[in-house]
Amino acid sequence: MPEGHTVHRLARTFHDLFVGQTLRVSSPQGRFADGAALLDGQVLVAAEAWGKQLFLGFAAARAGATAERWLRVHLGMYGAWTFAGDGSADVVHAIGAPRRRIGERETVPAGPDDPGTGDDWEPPAPRGAVRVRLLGEHAVADLTGPTACEVITPGEKAAVEARLGPDPLRPDGGRGSRDAARADFVERVRRSRVPVGRQLMDQAVIAGVGNVYRAEVLYRARVDPMRPGHDVPASEIGGMWDDLAVLMRDGVARGYIVTTRPEHRDAGGGAVPPVAAGRARRRPRQNADGEPGAVPVEEAFYVYRRDGLPCRVCGTPVLTRELAGRNLYWCGTCQG
Ligand SMILES: [Zn+2]
Repeated sequence: MPEGHTVHRLARTFHDLFVGQTLRVSSPQGRFADGAALLDGQVLVAAEAWGKQLFLGFAAARAGATAERWLRVHLGMYGAWTFAGDGSADVVHAIGAPRRRIGERETVPAGPDDPGTGDDWEPPAPRGAVRVRLLGEHAVADLTGPTACEVITPGEKAAVEARLGPDPLRPDGGRGSRDAARADFVERVRRSRVPVGRQLMDQAVIAGVGNVYRAEVLYRARVDPMRPGHDVPASEIGGMWDDLAVLMRDGVARGYIVTTRPEHRDAGGGAVPPVAAGRARRRPRQNADGEPGAVPVEEAFYVYRRDGLPCRVCGTPVLTRELAGRNLYWCGTCQG
């Protein structure tokens, strides 16, 4: 499931590609035809993320307009946006390639998509069950497989946001200031006896953290995931907020998650312990490998999907168990 860094990256991409433009909105698959009709021909005036929620704001007029309707999208486990553009410099800068898919991972298909030269650009035909297509002046965005895709009012958007916890990637944390957001997170965790490893997956406690950031921030803080929230010192919880703010901003910049410090990575990538073929299939998937300067996925994490492999710091085999519906990974020694 995409975590907050991916959704904030999507908001940035929509801002760069489409904000200020009149969009053609359609539902090639047909399931969102009524919603698309409400937005078709309107101007995209805002693109925002809060945790895993993406909000695209539409208005009838361009100049100084505030959003009258919002498209709310939650990608869930299987959703993805696929972008294609006409090859103009701004588009390539925003999406990194003539055609790019942003979901659980970012991928650039190896197909012969011709970016064209601008004037003669025709958007590619929709691939798969495209719930909604947004077509602007130089680019197109196709949404497939979302958990949520609906048109809502500003009031309904506010109601959705009121149920969300603070978001380390929002400029004000979603609480008016970074300090207030940090304090709110600490207070929410501390007032509950629910294990901290479960609370980190609760979008009402902190918005945008998913299974990778949960495991990795607990490891980096050396916190036992099963420890009740009210037993964890406030300084350690606040430290996790600060760490998440750094890690998630780095994730926005890279387009993928890296939590390992250079000194804890396997030199040159050749020292990774061999794994059975069946395990290799379960390795984390992302598009880091092969890009210049990228951290290979095998070296990107301390514990996530490294169960059975030696801890990068102490050598103890990494453990796993189900917690809050997803597999948790941790080191029983470092986080004891
Ligand atoms: Zn360890």
